[in-house]
Amino acid sequence: MVFPRQAVMDRGTCRTRAWGKTRAASSGYITVGGLPTGPIRRKNALTVAAIGVVESAVAVLVFVFGCAVGSFLNVCIWRIPRGMSITKPRRSLCPRCKSSIRSLDNIPLLSFLVLRGRCRDCGAPISWRYPVVECLTGLLFAALYLLQGTRQEGAAGQVIVMGLLIALLVVASAVDIDFLIIPDEVSAFGLLGGLLAGLLLPEMHVGSEPYHTFRSLTGAHHLDGLIGSAVGAMSGGALVLVFAMIGALIFRKQAIGFGDVKLMAMVGAFVGWKVVVLAFFVSPFFGLLYGLPLLFLKGQHVMPFGPFLSGGAVLVILFRSAACHHLNQYLQMIAELLRPVFH
Ligand SMILES: [Zn+2]
Repeated sequence: MVFPRQAVMDRGTCRTRAWGKTRAASSGYITVGGLPTGPIRRKNALTVAAIGVVESAVAVLVFVFGCAVGSFLNVCIWRIPRGMSITKPRRSLCPRCKSSIRSLDNIPLLSFLVLRGRCRDCGAPISWRYPVVECLTGLLFAALYLLQGTRQEGAAGQVIVMGLLIALLVVASAVDIDFLIIPDEVSAFGLLGGLLAGLLLPEMHVGSEPYHTFRSLTGAHHLDGLIGSAVGAMSGGALVLVFAMIGALIFRKQAIGFGDVKLMAMVGAFVGWKVVVLAFFVSPFFGLLYGLPLLFLKGQHVMPFGPFLSGGAVLVILFRSAACHHLNQYLQMIAELLRPVFH
């Protein structure tokens, strides 16, 4: 797309203008990045093209970075539930022959393909989990960057914070699938991280149009951000707790664990009360997609709830601004409807 456009433009200003007019009428360029309406000037069209190229290149880099992070998450997923240190030993070991994995065999995605999913020393199969977690983390990071990090000012900090949350959710989900527990290390670290992020980046919660979930209470920006995180954590945790208690009353056994309560408290600390409530109500759909086949094919009734909560949370995080926008409109509509009742 970029090269033909440039080729046309390089032929001269006159043609460029004519091209700009017709193209501007038929495509959405005039709205991209707030460019002026009317004939697109050569410079502006070039700027749009350049921004597109740069964004795509950065997205690829973010994907590669995400794969590397995913490789580290694999280490966490293996070691945390087994009570091992994340940092020692530095090198991962083959679970069967215990030989340490060489740096060249530790390249995300590529090494798995080159080794065809087997240990170089003993030929033991390497779990599909490794490339899947790497690729998933890469894709989620790239999607997060493309959906949230490219056009708004000051978005970089929030993209980094939300990337951290997504990484924690990946670890929590994978451990929950293996052991039916969500490690406290993950939710406690995440809860503190979310509160700290609210304090340092108050625009995550307060005021700013696309995400605002919270009106300023104290006037002190950073304190408001911290309160926003705390309210989010409490509402996320309380919501799951209430449903866990209702579930326990109805089914006479524990359906949702306390690990899930802590997990959603962590999510709430990052995203605020509105987004965490949305995430909670989206998650059962993920549960049905996974749980129904498991119930009917294997007759398995016990299933981890963490991955569905995480799935719902990740979906809502990626489309956070649209989700908040629609929720705000909906709440406003209800307020309008209720107004005559109270007056
Ligand atoms: Zn081996």
